[in-house]
Amino acid sequence: MNSKFDVIVVGGGIAGLTAGLVSARLGRRTLIHTSELLGGHLLSIETIEGYPGHPDGIAGYELCPLAQGQAADAGAEFAMSRVEALTCDGDEWQLATGSGDYAARAVIVATGTELRELGVPGEALLRGKGVSHCASCDAPLLGGKPVVAVGGGDSALQEALTLADHASKVTVVHRGEELTAQESFRRRAAAHPRIEFVASTEVVEIIGEDAVDGVRVREAPGGSGGDGTRDLETSAVFVYIGLRPNAALLADRLSLDSTGRIPVDTQMRTGLRGLFGAGTVRSGAAGRAVAAAGDGTLAAIAADRFLADGDWPG
Ligand SMILES: Cc1cc2nc3c(=O)[nH]c(=O)nc-3n(C[C@H](O)[C@H](O)[C@H](O)COP(=O)(O)OP(=O)(O)OC[C@H]3O[C@@H](n4cnc5c(N)ncnc54)[C@H](O)[C@@H]3O)c2cc1C
Repeated sequence: MNSKFDVIVVGGGIAGLTAGLVSARLGRRTLIHTSELLGGHLLSIETIEGYPGHPDGIAGYELCPLAQGQAADAGAEFAMSRVEALTCDGDEWQLATGSGDYAARAVIVATGTELRELGVPGEALLRGKGVSHCASCDAPLLGGKPVVAVGGGDSALQEALTLADHASKVTVVHRGEELTAQESFRRRAAAHPRIEFVASTEVVEIIGEDAVDGVRVREAPGGSGGDGTRDLETSAVFVYIGLRPNAALLADRLSLDSTGRIPVDTQMRTGLRGLFGAGTVRSGAAGRAVAAAGDGTLAAIAADRFLADGDWPG
């Protein structure tokens, strides 16, 4: 592959796929470079909700290949390996990756986020043996046993609803007194006969040797239940306690915001000439798939303008 492009998109989630699609349609030679299967978080979501045109939701494994095919048909090229470093030499950005070096005048960083880990004993040992971030991948293997979902936000409740189709019981353990998920998830989860909630509680250990046998929990700090711990029996633990932005590539070149995200202007331009941010890795991201796709569109259009006229603010 000739390694010089007009635009390189780093990240193949919905923001990156859309950026690549729009950029290729504008006639720019475009590479989408991603470290994992194309689709990012959406790929593992059983029913993506709130995506326009899909009133009953759409599975990630349906939407993502469609977006990938659309970008390929428009002329976007693909490379799969992690981008390890991003440097700038004059007017050209250079990417060092596991599959070689690439260069472009415009780079769109759409590296998204990773789900946070609990950081408790047993979690690393039992990852893939009952500790999971992916309800749609692992729920069919549950065989009607009880499971725990950790977290009180949108992801935790959405995935608890997916798990409840396969488990005998889903216990949602969350640290706050109240759930923070949007109303539609709260209402449906509360009405579900196989979902129950344990509030103001945190997981302190995952118990088991070759498989998950249970979780040890205690009252979250600030609660009134004392220091005691108790064990909940479970065959799997699904962890949804927030997201960590994948912005390390830029951490020594840009000041990230207080959440670790990349500051951008309304055209997705960063403070570095020719460099754009899009999707959930950018400051102020809305956290919805359609917004990430919108960011990708804006970034691709702005990159096209930049390549045409060379204008950059500041
Ligand atoms: C459990 C869960 C359920 C959700 N449900 C919904 C829903 O129903 N509806 C909705 O609208 N939204 C939902 N969301 C939010 C939605 O998934 C995100 O808004 C969307 O995926 C963001 O897309 P993105 O492209 O910005 O990032 P991501 O999806 O995170 O994709 C980023 C991509 O970049 C790649 N990458 C990272 N670092 C590098 C690197 N150094 N080099 C190369 N590639 C790299 C990653 O491998 C990944 O493929 C959900 C999120 C979660 C976690």
